[in-house]
Amino acid sequence: MTIHRPLVLCYHAISDEWVHKLAIRPEVFERQLRSLLLRRFRPATAEAVAAGRSRLLHVTFDDAYRSIDRAVSIAASLSIPMTVFAASAYAESGRPLDVPELAEDAKTQGEHLATMDWDALRGLAERGVEIGSHTVSHAHLPALSDSELEGELRDSRERVEDELDRPCRFLAYPYGEHDSRVQAAAAAAGYDAAFALGPGSSHANRFALPRVDLYPRDTVLRATLKTSFLKRPSSRLLALARGR
Ligand SMILES: [Zn+2]
Repeated sequence: MTIHRPLVLCYHAISDEWVHKLAIRPEVFERQLRSLLLRRFRPATAEAVAAGRSRLLHVTFDDAYRSIDRAVSIAASLSIPMTVFAASAYAESGRPLDVPELAEDAKTQGEHLATMDWDALRGLAERGVEIGSHTVSHAHLPALSDSELEGELRDSRERVEDELDRPCRFLAYPYGEHDSRVQAAAAAAGYDAAFALGPGSSHANRFALPRVDLYPRDTVLRATLKTSFLKRPSSRLLALARGR
């Protein structure tokens, strides 16, 4: 099995005590990264993975939850570059990510869904973390009109650049959702590349770069199989990934 494509991991929150599908425990996060380094993935920036064809490793966190300070320290200790994608309307106040999908959780678990405000994001940028856009409002982009779409993409990029005083070059589509119209709008809005999730993503398309979303129970082997490297993983490997 030869893997020669970049591997971009997508995480959300990191926590010892919050049991939720968005949260991973710090020691599991660290173990996943160490295993991939042992498998000879080479740490790389977002820029390098967007252009790369080799076995590069990059870590991304979507939504900019406050807990990810912990992840920044772990990734830095392993010299793995990281990008955080923030939704600009949330960064204005750091309020919990209360999108409809998380509205119930935001009522009862608001402290875990609290997001980083601009000061906190500036602090991350000063520690070497790339800050990308996750749109203005964490919208379902394919459902928007052309003008709404342009606003979500352009306004968020400009807010990040104004607040952080550095270029905002990368975008992550909320929910991983995109189509060819959304991709074209992302290019027109001035991004260098955009990261996706799931179907329709491709290493050959800078505006639909694949990522692997790792949930707390994913083993590293399963993580590797979840990537698009293997179109038809062998049954032996799948059995291994399932722990059999
Ligand atoms: Zn998100």
